Amino acid sequence: MVQRKLVSRGYHRKFTLPSMSDVTCTRCNQTREQMTAPPFPNELGNRIYDSICQPCWKEWLQYQTAIINHYALDLRDPQARQFLTTQTETYLFGQPQA
Ligand SMILES: [Zn+2]
Repeated sequence: MVQRKLVSRGYHRKFTLPSMSDVTCTRCNQTREQMTAPPFPNELGNRIYDSICQPCWKEWLQYQTAIINHYALDLRDPQARQFLTTQTETYLFGQPQA
């Protein structure tokens, strides 16, 4: 018997944006809450915004923090940023963008 767990996590929404919409996420294959804005002001940011849901993005942010700590990344270093970008793509899309 499958126990269905209805998770009602308290995503603290202090205010509801009128343009709040859903996105069909390519990572979890569910239609869920969309991010409020692209996370980066570039092509990758737009791609994430268009195809990754807010819950998956939050998961990534937690994982990203772990990566930064693990590798002691200095984000002023372009190589470190490049590394993190590759990790972002792999985590969200399954493979780095060619
Ligand atoms: Zn998702």
